[in-house]
Amino acid sequence: MSSTTTHSTLITPSFHNDDIHPENSAHPLLLKAFQLIHDYLSRDNDLSEADLANMADTPVRSAKAFASMVKTRTEIDKEIRHLLRTGFPMEKHEADYTPELITQGPIRVYSLCPHHLLSVEYDVFVSYIPAPDGMVLGLSKLARIVKTLSRRPVLQEQLASDIADVLSWTEGQKMPGIKSTGSAVSLVGKHSCMSCRGVESEAMTSSTALRKEFWKPEMEQKFYKAIELLTLRRD
Ligand SMILES: [Zn+2]
Repeated sequence: MSSTTTHSTLITPSFHNDDIHPENSAHPLLLKAFQLIHDYLSRDNDLSEADLANMADTPVRSAKAFASMVKTRTEIDKEIRHLLRTGFPMEKHEADYTPELITQGPIRVYSLCPHHLLSVEYDVFVSYIPAPDGMVLGLSKLARIVKTLSRRPVLQEQLASDIADVLSWTEGQKMPGIKSTGSAVSLVGKHSCMSCRGVESEAMTSSTALRKEFWKPEMEQKFYKAIELLTLRRD
């Protein structure tokens, strides 16, 4: 019997503690995938008994951890629709309407890069201008929308664009959203596929998405000023 086979029998996931509850069980596909990764790591003949013992339940644990970081597109749409339903109506009328920005950030969220499935840490700044006949979102809902949209393997630019679309819905848009006069999103990402492998650089990457009113240079500037203020308050 090869040592790899021996290790494989040792690492068969044992279902301890909370693992015995069906609602907590890992998805079979993820379990299979992480079992294979585990087998790959266990091919090392120099692994000690302690190494093997520490990794005994890792396939189950990893499968659950990974599942907690990703949602399906349907789940995301459903959650966004739910969050948008809890908005508050604006009382202003067209006549006395002046564009007022609501800006929030940094909202720290974690996502996955679609190219390596490694984690990305984002600091997100979002801004939108409620339409006179539109809705104002609860502040915690704004952060939840960003968090929900980040729970999938997604390109940084696409994530910025999707958040901006939710905060400024336009006719024909598939993604749910609120009616607003414009939205702006700035994402600063720290990609572990860049920092822990390859070039091993800690460099940050920023992306910006602007919609409607924020295409005007003076509004774009107001957005960056608001970010500056929020960043100063943070320090
Ligand atoms: Zn990557």
